[in-house]
Amino acid sequence: MTARIINGTRIGKEIREEVCADVLRLKNSGVIPGLAAVLVGNHPASHIYIRNKIKACDSLGVFSKLVHLPEDTTTTQLLQCVSDLNHQDSLHGILVQLPLPNHIDEAAILFAIDPAKDVDGLHPLNAGNLALGHAGLRPCTPSGVIEILLRERISVKGAHVVVIGRSNLVGKPLGLLLLQQHATVTLCHSRTKNLGKITQTGDILVAAVGYPGLVTADLVKPGAVVIDVGINRVDDKLVGDVDYEPVLKKASLLTPVPGGVGPMTIAC
Ligand code: NAP
Repeated sequence: MTARIINGTRIGKEIREEVCADVLRLKNSGVIPGLAAVLVGNHPASHIYIRNKIKACDSLGVFSKLVHLPEDTTTTQLLQCVSDLNHQDSLHGILVQLPLPNHIDEAAILFAIDPAKDVDGLHPLNAGNLALGHAGLRPCTPSGVIEILLRERISVKGAHVVVIGRSNLVGKPLGLLLLQQHATVTLCHSRTKNLGKITQTGDILVAAVGYPGLVTADLVKPGAVVIDVGINRVDDKLVGDVDYEPVLKKASLLTPVPGGVGPMTIAC
């Protein structure tokens, strides 16, 4: 068997076209949607992520404002910046690029963002709404994974979905979104015993770890759908967490890196 490769770039484009139409409708009613992207310091990957988000805004007709602060910005200074953005009516979304430099209190910053403008869905109010199954803003990478599953008509209801990774950004919210879609969810992490025994029972396997080649073919149930969230740089090449070629022969569907979950994150 050779898996079908899921084209995240194509699905992401589909979503962007839908968003473009929504933006046009808003503009026609007199509202120009605006996003503030805040970058602190010079983390090379963060620069690329922010640049791609700003580019995506431009291509959709969304107003964007990049706030680039120096590495030695203090928590107090960043809190003031977030407060200013909260009060700007032309900005409807605020995105603070993570990770922040170690000396900044990340939890305090996320808590300071107006929950209504918290497009990353990381404010405790939005995280709580997700846990309770109430409406709210959702983190973009887990939303991107759900969109892939829905738009590829992969049956989630009743399926056993194994997620490797339990971060606040990806694994945990993804587990909750999958529960809302009536999946049976198992979250695995670095202390999980017998990881392979568990992953082999997953109809859908999601890897969100940041460890290249962690998901070898023997971890995959034959015919499973495999979603690779990981982004790792190996020898100047981007790779995921999945041992791509061997897993391609065992799974039924597989997302590539790049071109899988990445473009979905930006679109969402
Ligand atoms: P993270 O905060 O570092 O979390 C990694 C998770 O993996 C943790 O829950 C950790 O367990 C678990 N883990 C580590 N080693 C493990 C092992 N040997 N076996 C099983 N679980 C293990 O990372 P993240 O922010 O969730 O991101 C995960 C990956 O996704 C990274 O490669 C990141 O670059 C990528 N990412 C991609 C996108 C995209 O758009 N495609 C977006 C966001 C992130 P513990 O909790 O026990 O430490």
